[in-house]
Parts: sequence; C-alpha cells; structure tokens
Amino acid sequence: MHKRTKSNIAVMLVLALCLSAILAGCGHEPDKPKPTKNVVLISVCSVRADHMSCYGYRRQTTPRLAEFARQCVVYDNAFTQWPKTTPAFCAIMSAKYAHNNGVLRATHGPRLADEHVTLAEVMADAGYQTAAFLSSPALAAHSNIAQGFQNVDEVFVGPRRAVLPTIRAIEWLRKRDPKKPFFIWAHYNNAHYPYRASGIPNPDMFVEDQFYDASRHVRALKDPRAHLKADVPRDHPCVMEILRPDIGAIHTWAVLDERPEELDFYIARYDAGIYSADASIGRLLDELRTLGLLDNTIVALVGDHGESLGDHNYYFEHGRFPYDATAHVPLMIRQPRGAGARHVSTQVAAFDLAPTLLEMTGLTPPEDWDARSLGRLDKDTPGDNLVFTEAGYQLDYMLAVHDSEWKLIDVPNALDRQMMRHQEYELYRWRDDPGETRELSAAHPDQVARLAAILDEWAAPWRAEVYANWTRNQTTIPTETSRQLESLGYVGSNSSEDEEGDDGGD
Ligand SMILES: [Zn+2]
Repeated sequence: MHKRTKSNIAVMLVLALCLSAILAGCGHEPDKPKPTKNVVLISVCSVRADHMSCYGYRRQTTPRLAEFARQCVVYDNAFTQWPKTTPAFCAIMSAKYAHNNGVLRATHGPRLADEHVTLAEVMADAGYQTAAFLSSPALAAHSNIAQGFQNVDEVFVGPRRAVLPTIRAIEWLRKRDPKKPFFIWAHYNNAHYPYRASGIPNPDMFVEDQFYDASRHVRALKDPRAHLKADVPRDHPCVMEILRPDIGAIHTWAVLDERPEELDFYIARYDAGIYSADASIGRLLDELRTLGLLDNTIVALVGDHGESLGDHNYYFEHGRFPYDATAHVPLMIRQPRGAGARHVSTQVAAFDLAPTLLEMTGLTPPEDWDARSLGRLDKDTPGDNLVFTEAGYQLDYMLAVHDSEWKLIDVPNALDRQMMRHQEYELYRWRDDPGETRELSAAHPDQVARLAAILDEWAAPWRAEVYANWTRNQTTIPTETSRQLESLGYVGSNSSEDEEGDDGGD
C-alpha cells in the first residue's frame, strides 16, 4: 500500500513536469510556487556592533544572541545607510537610500511616501500575514514606515516597553492563521539613552566591574537651555539637533542623576541596555522554538545605528556624524536549521537585508530598489562592494563610502567641519583603525582623490536637488507622538522633561 502510494506520486510528478514543460513551450509561465518560509525581523536601536559580546565585546552583553549567532550568517562589517532611527529604518524597509525615498535627517515628521514599495508590502502581496511590534515613537504611524503590515502594535510608553515587543509578538504568533506564512518585525529600543536599562533585574550589572574606570569624567549639562553656540537659522529643519549640546559634554536628555559626570557609568548602563534587549529577544527566540517554527523560519537581526560614547568628542547621541561609532551595526541572518552559518568580513550595507530576505523566500524584489541581495557576495569580488552612508543635520549633509580597506567622509558644510577636523574630506583605514583615530588624508591624497571621485559619481545625479529641497515628504506629527518626541527635546522644543520615565525615541 505504502509502496503503491509512492509510485502513484511519482507518476503524478512526471505528469506535472510534462504539463509545466508543455505550458512553458506554449509561452505560458506556470504559476510560481507560493512562498512557505516565515520571516522574523528583529531590530535594535542604538546598539553598536562592537558592544555586543557576539561581535567580540569584552563584557557579556549578548549571551542569548551569541548562541543565536552561531547558527547565523554574521556580517562582521555592516554599515547603516543613515545613522538615525527614522531614516535608517525607512532605508531598510524601502530598500532605497534616503536621498531616493525622501526620509532624510532627523525626526521632523519625515514620511515615507506611499509610492515606495516596502519589504512588508511585497510579502503581504505574496500572501504573508504581516505584523509589526514597534517600541519607538520615531517609528510611529506618521512616518508611514509600517506600510504593508496588517497589524501594527505601537508600544512606546512605560518601562515595560523593554519587554512588550516580545510579549505582543508571542501573543500574535499564538493567534495567527497557521496555514499561511508570516512576516513579523519586532523592534527593541532598550539601549537608547537615557540608559535606564529597564526590563532586567539589575541595571547596574556592569557598574564597577573589572572593565570599569571611575576616574574618567566628562561634563554633564543639566540645563535644558544649554546649547551649542552656532549661527543656525531658526527655521532650519534641524536647528534643534544642530544646537544640541552633545559635543564635548553630555547633553541634557542623556544625563543620569546617579553619577552625572562619570563616563564609565553611562557606558556600563548603555551596555546593560544591550543586555536587556538581548534578554527580551532571547524570550522571542525561545517561543519560536517552542512553537516548532524555527525549522521553517528565517530570523534576521539588524541595527539602525550605533551610539557615540564620546568618540570624536561626541557624547551619547547618534545622527550627527557618519563615523563608525554610529555607522557600524549588527547584521545576522539565521536560515532554517542554521544552514550556511559563518562570518562574512566583507563590508556590506544594512539595507541589503530586504532583497536578501526576499531572495531567501523565493520572492522577487521590485526593480526600483537600490539595495541588492547579499547572495551576490558569493559571486562578486568582495573588494568591489562599496557601501554608502548619508548622515548629518545640515541641508548639505555628509556622505561617506567604505571600500574593502578605506573610508572617506565628504563634509560639505562649514559648521560640520568645525565640529570635526576642519577638513573637507576625512580618510580612515577602517579595518586597521575601527575607532577612526588616525586621519590619513594628508598621507594618502591618492586615496582621497579616488574615493572622492566615487562619491561624486554616486551623488552627481541627485545631490544638488536633494540639498535644496529639504521640505519633501514632511508631514504633521500627531499630538501624542509629538509630545513623546518633545519630552526628549525634539521637534523644536528645549524641554528636557521626560515625564513618562521612558527611553528615548529617535
Ligand atoms: Zn535608533
């Protein structure tokens, strides 16, 4: 009986193959098989790759992700396309650079226009159930980033937001239709300043450990009226961000009252925030295993940007510069059963994740996407992979490019140069000097010329127009979101009150 069934199946398979060959011969494409693999996208805000133990950090900040990473393709050198939450995620979800999708700079109501086809839209069109669990007001509805998600759960308020993306995702997974594949996005804001490290029993777990140096001090500005002295027009779209006093001092919104001027206290708390994200993500991975989903689910983790912890005299923020303290992000992808797990040292763009996930599920990316599947790295020469990053708050903002060895930053704006090295171009050998401590443009003018030509060629078709039109895609932020952002000092307010006891949002 069993044997006979098998032979029947074999006959049917042969018939099916013949039929599809006949259809192909007639010019009819047989229907593509429907995708069946689930996709879970996990994202973390403000998490530097080099502060995760799974990327070699000295503190055990990510015990759960270390275990997960052993089953992943881990991209050791992934860089964001814009080191600020909203533009970074709009680039990832639309698979387009900010200059192309219109979501530039900071939080002044940038809106991803409907015309851009997002990863979630492609998957929803292919029959996926889609749901997003987002814990940052920078990803609120006004940004329109959740296009294509049939269920959007915004968990912005209160200390429980450290664990809520996991709790809500688990609830949703248990209720979903098991006959259809799913795509979910869970975003964790746990590491964002003001570094409360909520969601874990001991936020001070790394304070005064063996790596702690209590002698390092930095100025902390508690006065909400403190700001950088600079001549910026009041109607500049990012006047608030430009004047934020985060150069040479800890800005108002990040100050911790317990030890306000002790540099390592902030870093220890920041590291505990990463640990908190790791714990929460670990619970979600446990649930995927318990539900028996891991054998048929692709799980990816990506960061939007890192955090500057005093690097380049820039304290506890992100978005101002394209230095690797904020540009280098975690990126890892687990295929079912951990297939192909390895480390990839080639430099890659974080937004290449979207077409990579589509390729893995058998779907075709839209033709107008800028990003390309990382599957191509197996065929191309790795050194040829150029990674571009846009950054800054000025109308004439910065551009950067990484090749396999060098990185060039193009700094068009005079005020930006004053906060940096007073140069039009900065050159680093990023693989040997990941902290970008040795600026090499004088010693290697040939590399500056070569990479500047690459940046010019890349930006020539759009740069002048984009710099001149900052108002594109601005939208009105709803009152409640505006209040949450404003409480953190955004949207043109100088208030420093953080009444909800929330982590930051941007
Ligand atoms: Zn972020």
